[in-house]
Amino acid sequence: KKWVYLFEEGKAEMKSLLGGKGANLAEMTNIGLPVPPGLTITTEACNAYYDHGKDFPESLMSQVKAALEQVEAKLGKKFGDPQNPLLVSVRSGAVFSMPGMMDTILNLGLNDETVNGLTEATQNRRFALDCYRRFIQMYSDVVLGASHAEFEHILESYRDKQGVRFDNELSPESLSAMIEDFKVMVKKTTGQLFPQDPMAQLEGAIRAVFSSWNNDRAIIYRQIHKIPDDLGTAVNVQSMVFGNMGNDCGTGVAFTRNPSTGEKTLYGEYLINAQGEDVVAGIRTPLHISLLQEEMPAVFDQFVNICGILEKHYRNMQDIEFTIQGGKLWMLQTRNGKRTAAAAVKIAVDMVEEGLISKEEAIQRVEPEHLDQLLHRRIDPTAKLTVIATGLPASPGAASGKIVFDADEAEALGKTGEKIILVRTETTPDDIHGIVQAQGILTSRGGMTSHAAVVARQMGKTCVCGCESLRIDYARQEFVVPTAAGDLKAYKKGDTISIDGSTGRVIEGVVPMLEPELTSEFQTLLSWADEIRTIGVRANADKPQEAAQARAFGATGIGLCRTEHMFMAQERLPIVQEMILSQNLEERQVALAKLLPMQQEDFYGILKAMSGFPVCIRLLDPPLHEFLPNEEDLVVEVTKMRCALEYADDQKEAILSKLEETEALLKKVRTLHEFNPMLGHRGCRLGITYPEIYGMQARAIFQAVAQLVQEGYEVEPEVEIPLVVHINELAFLRQLVVDTAEAVMAETGVKFEYTVGTMIEVPRAALTADQIAKEAQFFSFGTNDLTQTTFGFSRDDAESKFLGYYRDRKILPENPFIVLDREGVGQLMKIAVEKGRATRPELLVGICGEHGGEPSSIEFCHLIGLDFVSCSPYRVPIARLAAAQAAV
Ligand code: ADP
Ligand code: MG
Ligand code: MG
Repeated sequence: KKWVYLFEEGKAEMKSLLGGKGANLAEMTNIGLPVPPGLTITTEACNAYYDHGKDFPESLMSQVKAALEQVEAKLGKKFGDPQNPLLVSVRSGAVFSMPGMMDTILNLGLNDETVNGLTEATQNRRFALDCYRRFIQMYSDVVLGASHAEFEHILESYRDKQGVRFDNELSPESLSAMIEDFKVMVKKTTGQLFPQDPMAQLEGAIRAVFSSWNNDRAIIYRQIHKIPDDLGTAVNVQSMVFGNMGNDCGTGVAFTRNPSTGEKTLYGEYLINAQGEDVVAGIRTPLHISLLQEEMPAVFDQFVNICGILEKHYRNMQDIEFTIQGGKLWMLQTRNGKRTAAAAVKIAVDMVEEGLISKEEAIQRVEPEHLDQLLHRRIDPTAKLTVIATGLPASPGAASGKIVFDADEAEALGKTGEKIILVRTETTPDDIHGIVQAQGILTSRGGMTSHAAVVARQMGKTCVCGCESLRIDYARQEFVVPTAAGDLKAYKKGDTISIDGSTGRVIEGVVPMLEPELTSEFQTLLSWADEIRTIGVRANADKPQEAAQARAFGATGIGLCRTEHMFMAQERLPIVQEMILSQNLEERQVALAKLLPMQQEDFYGILKAMSGFPVCIRLLDPPLHEFLPNEEDLVVEVTKMRCALEYADDQKEAILSKLEETEALLKKVRTLHEFNPMLGHRGCRLGITYPEIYGMQARAIFQAVAQLVQEGYEVEPEVEIPLVVHINELAFLRQLVVDTAEAVMAETGVKFEYTVGTMIEVPRAALTADQIAKEAQFFSFGTNDLTQTTFGFSRDDAESKFLGYYRDRKILPENPFIVLDREGVGQLMKIAVEKGRATRPELLVGICGEHGGEPSSIEFCHLIGLDFVSCSPYRVPIARLAAAQAAV
């Protein structure tokens, strides 16, 4: 079996075998870019390693040696040669990039002997020793399990001793002595001698990369990003080039376009005389890539040229790692760059205009869920702010929250719903669980490509980094900043601050925020989505201003207007209660007569806001006791009044009558009590037992319609009967609605159009859809209830009681209340669509459950031929894009 490929043997399409990094190194090699030669060990080898109880597959190392000989031949150096040693890096490379999640080892092949050879060959002792000390540090940390902090400790003591600030200022003598200290420390803390045999080093490093696939942070990262656990990682063994040989050397990272805004300008950072991770580690603050133009014009031009080649070749924005050795540029990595949603939208639209990609591709370049970020808020520009510091604007948006200095604490507090800002000198992949729970991230060190910045952008979290005036004291759980007056001010754990990830400002206290407006690129992309998609997008809205918002976001109708939300309004609740408490029909009609004008006004407002588009109005759905006070509260009240009665003298009468009233209420609450209200007296069952309620609602709708028609508006009301299980229920209520419509037309002399249909939210309704369609002009899948009734999971309890366990143990692939269950619930939907349309070919079918705004569920709705999806107004843009993606 072939476990090893030279770079020139691979290509970009071989990602699943060579990993992303290896496949792209191969691709760059083959299009003639300057890439240090090397080889890739396949992901299959990694999986074989795990299959064999963590043993290398046979012939792996012999293939590595053979490939390495070819690399040696190209470079005229030999691995382990004491005169002119070849050094390599050992780099992990998973199929999906997992930035910083796994471990890389540089300068491998150095030992007490070859370090002298390197000195000879380069005539640069400081450099050779610097490489050796870095190698010992990385190797011992990653492979032997020595503590990173111990090394930092020793480094710091040498910097102090020599009186310098940065590692690259350490003298050869310091480095040499430090290396000996390192070795002693490694032996002491790990019980192992630092390995001197280069081949043993290489084996150890490969083993460590394989193992890093299953370290904690990699596992968490895969969980968050839904990457399967069984892909394995490839290992790249690549000849070293050196950015730390002097001032004509350096290392950097860059994006071909701005990953925050999408603007077409180079964006990145570099450090002179530095190696590898120095840029992202935030040890020295790196320089903006544009400065390279002045410092090394020839290299800069070549770099710009290569960026152009890569963008054309990959037809996507690239994230590039490079190193300059002795004025010569080397490419070490390229991949499609991660970007904010705003950048994704702008780049996709720009690239269509540049002729690089098609509209269909542009649509697929933006993750629908990420559009959420664009709907993010920003700080009100007119607000008076107390800016206490300014850092780099690393990830846009704005956030306020309490200061927390520790990722574990951030996680714990965040989970309680507390809004927090995680403040760190810098973040590492070990902080990821805290970042997930924070509103925003603030760091005092590191650039725009530091870990915190990259992770935050991807998650769509606000981040300010490299805020150097912040001095963080973890021990005292506070940070201090210099004030304008020249003294220092401290902010403690728990104090509230705000950060502005679009400008880098750090602000005291909570600040007023503005809702976002949508850019022209955003509108363009969504207009392309509208051209491409074939399924309609409506919104779930109950109020005129929600309907207006939904229209602004591109909704073409309301898929669900819940009338009970109108019943809940404070001034109406007493009348609703009066209706429920009525002893007989007459009493109830008195209360209903009071509700009629109110409902009519509601429907007038929402139909007007959506005029020209359909509005689906659902008649009353929840069980009546939802509108009444809680039983326990009433019991307490009654008890209190009884006590009061004992001691009262003069107010006896008043208390007594109040007591009687409350007792009557309690009695009613008790009679309405149901063991299983969600399966109880609700929906059309209420409409059938109290036809006067639905009658009032239908009248309110039609009177509003008549009024609007008279005023010249175009309205398309759809009257929806909820929770139907049997055709007879619908037949009865449809007649009621039709009679009411006719009565209103006769009374007002206005003719209007309307339709009557039903929700499909119980399996029986789906299975008898052919019959139900005889009475229904439209179906709308209420998939919240349909999921509840199909699974038999109470949606109010399942998530807190057992769905978490189900998820952790992978009993269910997804939470079915979030992602539509295609096999069960979806199958019922498919049956209902087919049977319904067999009876009535023009039957309109939509979905109005929460799933209507979730991309994978939208795709399913498209596949089974629904006419529309309906979701909350803020998800309308997401649904439009997801619907277009489903159609491509
Ligand atoms: P990560 O996946 O964490 O980015 P990489 O394998 O890309 O890890 O390595 C990180 C950095 O190490 C690179 O960006 C580069 O600066 C440096 N590096 C890796 N291999 C080499 C090499 N062969 N020569 C010089 N520098 C290297
Ligand atoms: Mg990298
Ligand atoms: Mg329902």
